[in-house]
Amino acid sequence: MAIKKNENGTWVLDPVQILGEDRQEVEIFDTTLRDGEQGGVTFKGNSKFKIARFLADTGVSTLEVGFPSSTPLEFDTVKQIADTVEGPYICGLTTMDFENIKRTWQALENNPNPTIHVFTLNIDEASIRAYKAEPNEQTEKAFRAVTYAKELTGGKGRVEFSAQNTILALSQSLNPEYSFLQEYISEIYGHAIKAGADVINIPHTVAKGIEIEIQEAIQYFKMLVEGTDEVMLSFHAHNDFGVSVADTLAAIKQGVRQVEGSWYALGERAGNTPLEQVIMNLSLKPSYNRKFFTSFKLEKTNAVARFIERESGIPIPYNAPGVGPNALRHGSGVHSDGDKKGKEIGENIYLPCAPEDIGWTGNTHQITKLTGVTGVTARLEELGYEFDKAFVREHIIPVIKSRDMIYGDKELRMIGDDFRYTGKPHIEFVDYAFNKFANSNIRQAQVVLVLGGEKKTGEAFMGKNGPINAVFSAIDDVLGLGEKKPKLVVYEPSSQGRTHSSVAEALIVLSGNANELNYHLTAPVWVGKAEDEDTITASTKAYVLALSRFMTDMKGKSGTDKNQQMGI
Ligand SMILES: [Zn+2]
Repeated sequence: MAIKKNENGTWVLDPVQILGEDRQEVEIFDTTLRDGEQGGVTFKGNSKFKIARFLADTGVSTLEVGFPSSTPLEFDTVKQIADTVEGPYICGLTTMDFENIKRTWQALENNPNPTIHVFTLNIDEASIRAYKAEPNEQTEKAFRAVTYAKELTGGKGRVEFSAQNTILALSQSLNPEYSFLQEYISEIYGHAIKAGADVINIPHTVAKGIEIEIQEAIQYFKMLVEGTDEVMLSFHAHNDFGVSVADTLAAIKQGVRQVEGSWYALGERAGNTPLEQVIMNLSLKPSYNRKFFTSFKLEKTNAVARFIERESGIPIPYNAPGVGPNALRHGSGVHSDGDKKGKEIGENIYLPCAPEDIGWTGNTHQITKLTGVTGVTARLEELGYEFDKAFVREHIIPVIKSRDMIYGDKELRMIGDDFRYTGKPHIEFVDYAFNKFANSNIRQAQVVLVLGGEKKTGEAFMGKNGPINAVFSAIDDVLGLGEKKPKLVVYEPSSQGRTHSSVAEALIVLSGNANELNYHLTAPVWVGKAEDEDTITASTKAYVLALSRFMTDMKGKSGTDKNQQMGI
């Protein structure tokens, strides 16, 4: 135990545990673009390329960017990244098939740091039966595959080897009935090491039926397999039972020096190990950062997560540690008061770290007329805008400086959208009216819009929900968006009385992600604000403006599956 009594009889932490200068590097292997794409996410167009380029200077050690032999499109994407993105190892996954290995190499060969990642079928007992796999044959194949991959790379970059479901196989192998798995694991990995694999990955593919702890599994693996001291050990886990981060940290303590995962756990089922959580533990928790470090630039944590959120269309979970919209925000009076008192003495009492440590710029940052260009640009970027500093300085700062107020996300979105959508609107509001049917109480809203240069009329009956709802339904009738329609998440009408006149204002926020109900979301959001003499007209104009901006984005996206990309 690291906690001991010193000579004064006081409990202290044993200083032997604090290794300081002997800290060891844990490499971050980012598979967001490969394994992260296996469940519900499809990166479209040049998204993968944009993400790879963004990640290249964050200090990530390896980027696994795809499975080049799977389709010609995937080959081209991986090749484009390998040809142009430098810094981390650029990795492509392949089966043990020679043709596939060759194709993978062709995609990667122009990169200065290529990694061919060779993987096998699952090696657990049930999978051997299901695939009718022959252990000796698989072992021989693994040896030949790694040998061939090493030949192709000619010493450039790395070759990584994985046998799927190894953790389960390790656990099962301790059952005397399945003891043949001991030889299988020992042989298949031993052969891969002999053939020259630089990285040996131990996959925890499915968290099911495992009777041993991860630390035991890794220790046992090192006893079973010869040569593990000569290679880099890697760990790959899925978050089926919500403990993939804990398992990954346990694996690191047993000698694993590369950890695989994705951003905010993107990936099939419950996802891959969320990298940002592993990084935060390694960097911010003294019991780890005394011993380990990563090259990842911690302050980029939130920027990376938001960038991937924008490109994938999959929202970051509200409470996701470190990167969720609520991660460093607290609402209770006691906590807010403690936070305020803490700040007076330079401490963050109720926060896990200083927000700037992980680049968190949620609404603890207040934008006012005194905020500089960098602060405003960074916040707008967090909200999903792509304005450069020069543009912000010239166009947006003057607007912010013109009023003495605190600009929350809502206000910034209104300003940002005004500068983002400068082209001709897709839809224009012309007029509305209510018709009453003779001899009945039934009323009908009628709306006239200009859509694609043509005047169109929409109608809807007015039900219990009132006239504004009826007008909005009539607009929906014209557009016919059906299920593609973004959800109305905010509607704020207000009227300001003046001495001789009154002005009605309305604010509308539409969201592509129906579960979000606040302004802090960074998933697709469209804002419309308008004023007029009466509330119905102001509301209708605001609704039409927000929908018009939504349609501009829809038109701007290419590919057939744009709904998924928009996250709707
Ligand atoms: Zn996986």
